Amino acid sequence: MPSPVINGLSVDVEEWFQVGAFEKVIARAQWDGLDSRVERNVRAILAMFAAADVKATFFTLGWVAQRHPALVRAIADAGHEVASHGWDHQRVFTMDPAAFAADLARARDALEQASGQAVTGYRAPSFSIDARNPWAHDVLAQAGYAYSSSVAPIVHDHYGWREAPRFAFRPLATGALLEIPVTTAEIAGRRMAAGGGGFFRLLPYGVSSWAIRQVNAAGRPAAFYFHPWEIDPDQPRRNDAPWRSRFRHYTNLAVMAPKLERLVRDFAWGRMDELAAREAAWVDSAPAPLPAAA
Ligand SMILES: [Zn+2]
Repeated sequence: MPSPVINGLSVDVEEWFQVGAFEKVIARAQWDGLDSRVERNVRAILAMFAAADVKATFFTLGWVAQRHPALVRAIADAGHEVASHGWDHQRVFTMDPAAFAADLARARDALEQASGQAVTGYRAPSFSIDARNPWAHDVLAQAGYAYSSSVAPIVHDHYGWREAPRFAFRPLATGALLEIPVTTAEIAGRRMAAGGGGFFRLLPYGVSSWAIRQVNAAGRPAAFYFHPWEIDPDQPRRNDAPWRSRFRHYTNLAVMAPKLERLVRDFAWGRMDELAAREAAWVDSAPAPLPAAA
């Protein structure tokens, strides 16, 4: 039997109140006064991964690392990769290159101090690298990142870069920086982000497992992600958010943990930096097309 394709497993480490869905009803200045849930949720995820003997990547906000350095150290000490999710979840296309470079540096400093590990991977908040800001990959390369997993090659109401490749590619003409887009599936002629988030939590387990099987059957790895708040049905409720945001945020929180336990057992998983190294070798052997010039 051929060995299974090893997929990339990742957790975007942020508080329940730091999501784009609540951006308009919760100001950053209020964050420190809200109920912090990230510590207990990430500890539960670490226990789940330990029970399944799985290693993963935790794309962590610098804001969280500054307030919970022992948690970040525990992630690293358990053999997982600590990578960057930026400082405070500012979408990249709302910044200019200098502000983005400063956001990256501030987050990396907090993450490296807490983890004792070098940070070489980055995930943009809300997949906010797209046709609007291709310069972001230049800034990442200049800062010495090995890989980014920040592009959703789809059309979505909040994000997406439809013309981007579905699998790993080198976004710059020179340099080694690799971009690993979130996994997509083609369903009824529409391409959807099938690598986690609402797709995994809101739809039946069989839809996500089908999508990952399709990708793996073609010999390609999936890149999957979820958030600590998604396994937390007891988090505070915000009834002042738009109904669509509330639906996306609160549906199926109680079934998420058992669903994830199933997912980590049904497929082979590993850290994103290790996936990036394997994907770099794949890109070099079968060059993928560059994204269309913006
Ligand atoms: Zn995020």
